[in-house]
Amino acid sequence: MEREKSNPSATGGCLCGKVRYEIVGELMPVINCHCSKCRRFHGHVGAYTATRRELLVLTEESGLKWYRSIQDETPDVYRGFCKECGSSLFWDPRGKERISVAAGSIDPPTGLNTERHVWLSQKTDYYTITDDLPCHEERLARADRGKA
Ligand SMILES: [Zn+2]
Ligand SMILES: [Zn+2]
Repeated sequence: MEREKSNPSATGGCLCGKVRYEIVGELMPVINCHCSKCRRFHGHVGAYTATRRELLVLTEESGLKWYRSIQDETPDVYRGFCKECGSSLFWDPRGKERISVAAGSIDPPTGLNTERHVWLSQKTDYYTITDDLPCHEERLARADRGKA
């Protein structure tokens, strides 16, 4: 598809630089996922934006590795990370319209806001949610959302 090469709406990547990406187009508000899989993958809560998968362009992928996350409730999910530095980057439900991108991997300023919390039913006990954002026991009901 046609892209404006000079003006990505976001750039980001891993700690060491062996995974870099550009996103040309709209990003969804950030969702904090408290599920047990995101907790282990990120070492804490998973904070994700999402975009239509064709808008995500990998500009450096020599470090990118995909883990098939058979533990996820959603079928056919792959989690992308950097095999060199260990950064957690992507939540990819294959075959769905959107891919989720770890918000912390985006170069600031992101211009994004956090919208809600999901999977409170799997939240662990060492922290407390102190904001007033909507909380959901499980996934977000909007089935078309990349990270639900
Ligand atoms: Zn890296
Ligand atoms: Zn999760």
